[in-house]
Parts: sequence; structure tokens; C-alpha cells
Amino acid sequence: MKSDIEIALEAKMKPIVEIADKLDLSKEDWEPYGHYKAKLSDQLLSKLSSRPRGKIILTTSINPTPAGEGKSTVTVGLGQALNHLNKNAVIALREPSLGPTMGVKGGAAGGGYSQVVPMDEINLHFTGDIHAITTANNALSAFIDNHIHQGNVLNIDPRRVEWKRVLDINDRALREVIVGLGGPVKGVPREDNFTITVASEIMAVLCLANDLKDLKRRLADIVIGYTYDLKPVNVAQLGFEGALTLLLKDALKPNLVQTLENTPAIIHGGPFANIAHGCNSVMATSIAAKLGEYVVTEAGFGADLGAEKFLNIKTRAGEFEPDAVVIVATIRALKMHGGVDKASLETENVAALEKGAQNLKKHIETIQQFNLPFIVAINQFPADTQAEIDFLLEWCKEEGVPVSLVDVFTKGGQGGIDLAEKVVTLCEEKSSSLHHTYELEDSIEEKVQKITKKVYGADGAEFSQKAKKQLKQFEELGYNHLPVCMAKSQYSLSDDPTKLGRPSGFTITVQELRASIGAGFIVALTGDVMTMPGLPKRPAALNMDVTDEGVIKGLF
Ligand code: ADP
Repeated sequence: MKSDIEIALEAKMKPIVEIADKLDLSKEDWEPYGHYKAKLSDQLLSKLSSRPRGKIILTTSINPTPAGEGKSTVTVGLGQALNHLNKNAVIALREPSLGPTMGVKGGAAGGGYSQVVPMDEINLHFTGDIHAITTANNALSAFIDNHIHQGNVLNIDPRRVEWKRVLDINDRALREVIVGLGGPVKGVPREDNFTITVASEIMAVLCLANDLKDLKRRLADIVIGYTYDLKPVNVAQLGFEGALTLLLKDALKPNLVQTLENTPAIIHGGPFANIAHGCNSVMATSIAAKLGEYVVTEAGFGADLGAEKFLNIKTRAGEFEPDAVVIVATIRALKMHGGVDKASLETENVAALEKGAQNLKKHIETIQQFNLPFIVAINQFPADTQAEIDFLLEWCKEEGVPVSLVDVFTKGGQGGIDLAEKVVTLCEEKSSSLHHTYELEDSIEEKVQKITKKVYGADGAEFSQKAKKQLKQFEELGYNHLPVCMAKSQYSLSDDPTKLGRPSGFTITVQELRASIGAGFIVALTGDVMTMPGLPKRPAALNMDVTDEGVIKGLF
């Protein structure tokens, strides 16, 4: 089979004006960014406020493994399949980060015949949103350092500046840096850190904002650090929220593109799910749900991370909830959860599949706790054997769990018709409403305990001395009512990435808390979650090239 980029380059894309027309958008609702991309107006959501909302379908998965799960692929394939059923479906995805694109992950625009296009542009600079976030973030850093240099009226303690610089490239050399070296004219020296842009608070703020006004309010609320007497300092005190909003005004506008089968797709915002909240923007999902009868959207990594945050954080910010959840699993990944190494994945191994299915079982139980209708989608890979497929279908039947075998990777929407039909039925039959894992009135500690016990299956959470002090400090500062954004390894239900399958008898250790007041959540850092990834020994970028004629190579 052809590579993703080869398939994408052969796509028969429609001019973006035709996609906008299909959505019944009028001229002032959107502006073209070239022939195949557009930005939707930030006023569109309020204009559509009286329209009924379409059904929201959330795609999530088991814990990811190097074998691949294909959540984005299934999301795109399902959207296309719904259109085969003559349903007006819109897809809402995250924007890929250049860090993992150049590093290990490969693309984040789907795969095979279920991709969003222009795939190369989406995976690279796209419409510049992530660059705008990098610039806004670093402009604030410069503003803080300048404030300290120019007399420090706010009494900011340079050792307690929490605001970090960012870059959207994996660069381990920037994890710890010292800025302001070189004497009095070069600023006040202090330790600083770089984070990957997609883990920045500004990314989260942009993704959770409902409109320009809400964006400015959230930016104003960002706590950048603390004074010498430990009082929080926010952006409003620096008077910088106006300039930040200005720098982000175009990035706030959701991007419209299409799939290989010309299904409309809104791609906007791209926070990681392990160190950030892992969902595309509230504006993109809300607009998609107003424009389509169905919106298929995705939350990053497994249901323990992306879906948990979608359901506990994003639904509260956007005031909506999914009508159905699709849990993507692959036979390969379940075999890895059952103890098979990557090199042996092509060999049939039903026993390992049976063992690994326990990981799927935990995620099914988690979605059941949220009280949402769901279906398991088995994303079929070429090496899956009939015996393995039969086993997993039978396993789901015995568990009483709805299931669909999908092959949207090789067949496009046609390979997801059965899934689409079952999802439509789930949405139509939904009669219950979402149960959150915790109440906002719970203390920060209670919220963390509930997530670790209910969603991870842990015995509970322990807090380091530093985190314990912060629990007290945050309570005094009045932050208790905020939801919690867990930063945890994506590979395991626990905070130890080597514990695959369904571990039990473990506790989660919260090392540190961070107050993301603009985003409106408290980040709880567990294990060794890296907020600035490094590159692997052989980065994916080594395969990439562009010929003298401008033909792209090796972008997966
Ligand atoms: P996720 O969203 O879970 O990270 P993606 O949908 O981005 O996963 O897919 C990861 C990679 O796996 C992509 O390169 C995609 O082309 C590939 N892939 C996905 N589904 C299949 C499949 N059924 N068969 C072969 N390759 C697949």
C-alpha cells in the first residue's frame, strides 16, 4: 500500500470555497488561507447560537503503544462513513505539533484513506496558529524579564517566575537554561526552562476560550509567578493581556480543511494529552456541532488521559457533552499490553491478546463510569489474523460490549459504515447524561484521589512534600474550585510507563502542582512527565525531504 503522504498528494481536494458552501457559510463567516484552507470567523459561534447542536461523538482509545492505535484515522474514517450514510458530519481534530512530527510520532492527520488534507501543510506550519502561540508566550517572557530589569515595581521574585519560554520542537538542551547573563545591560540573570509550545498554558487558554472576550479574560488571569512575599502575580498586573490577545486574535479562529473524501474538518488547537488537556478547541467542537448533524472529535492518548480531561475539563468549559464515545483498540496494541514485544507483533498470539484485553476492559469501565453510550472500534491492521479478530469480537460479545471491526485505513469511509450505523443508533438512544469523576467543590486533593482511583484503577495518590505544601498554598489562594489536569505517562494506567496491561496495587505520586489559572485548571505532575521532549537517536525528520520540483518525501 502507498504511504500516507503518497495517498495525500493524490487527493482530489475541492477548493475550500466548496467546503464552506457545503456548510452553508456566508462570506463574512470565513476567509480563505490559500486554495484549500480557511479560517472561520471568531464571531461564528455567537451567530449560530440559536441553532440546535448536532450529536457529539468522542473518539478515545486504550493506552497507546509503539504498535499504533489509529485514533485520528478512525475519527476521520468515521466522519467519512457518516457522510456515506447521508449524514451531515463534521470532524474536529487537534493541530499536530512539530516536536513529535520531526521526532518519533509520525503525522497526526489520520492515515491511509482516512486523512485530512493538505496533510503536509497540516503537519508542518499549517495556518501559523502554533507559531503565534509560541510568539505570544515568549513575548510574555520578555515582558516579565523587562519588568524585573526596569525596577521590578511588582516585586517579582526572579527565582519564582513560573512562566516558561516555549518552542514547538523537541529540544532537550533547552530544558534548563539561564537567561539574562552578561552584566547589568543584559537583564537580571535567572533560571528559566523551555517547554514544548503545545504544553503551554496559552495553548490551553486558546483551546478553552469561548470567544475573544473570554480569551482576554483568561490571558489576564494567567499567574506568571510569585513575589518575594509569595503573592501570585498575574498578567493583568503587568497590563499585558491586551497585547497578548492581539497576538492571538487570528490563532483563535478555527481552521477549516477537508478529508480525502471531502468531508469538512475543523482543525484547531493542539495540546498534548499527557502534559496538557489533550483536546482540540472548544470553539472548533462547538462550531462543528452547530454546522453538522454529527461532529466526530478526538481526545489524545488513552481514555485515562485525553478522554478524562475532555469529560471533566472541556465539557465544563464548552457546556456540552458527548452523545457517544468510540474506544479505539488494535489487536497489535492489545498484544503488546499482553506482553508481546514490537518485533513479534506479526505472529499470531491469541493468548497475549486475551491478556492485553484487560487494558481495554479498564477503559470500557471508565467510560461506563462517565455514564456515556460507547462502542469499541477494532482498527484492523494488515497482520491481524482471522483467529485474533474472531477472538476479540467474541470477547466483546461475552463482555456485553458493542463492537465494530473497522478498516477505514485501506477503504476510507466505506470501511467504517458498520461503525457509523451503530454510532448513529447509540446517539439516538442516548437517554442518560454525563457523570463527572469529581465535583468542582471537591478539594484539589480529593479530585486527584478520585481520578487516580476511578480512572487509573490505582489504590490512590501520594503527594511529595512539595506538592503537599502547594495543596495548602493553592487552597489559601482560593484555587480549590478548579478542575485538575493530570500530567501522567500515556503508556500505562499507572505513572510507570513500563507497567502495561491493567496494573493493580499501585499508587500515583504527585510530584508537583502548577496553577494554570488562565486555562482554569491545576496541573498535577506525576512520574517523570517531560514538558520538553527530546529527539530519539534516529529522528523521523531524517526521512523527510523535498525534491527540486517541490515534491514532498518521507512525511510518513
Ligand atoms: P493516533 O491518533 O492514535 O495517534 P493515528 O491515527 O495518527 O493514531 O495513526 C498512527 C499511525 O498509524 C499513522 O501513521 C497511521 O497511518 C497508522 N495507521 C493507523 N491505522 C492503521 C491501520 N489500520 N493500518 C495500518 N496503519 C495504520
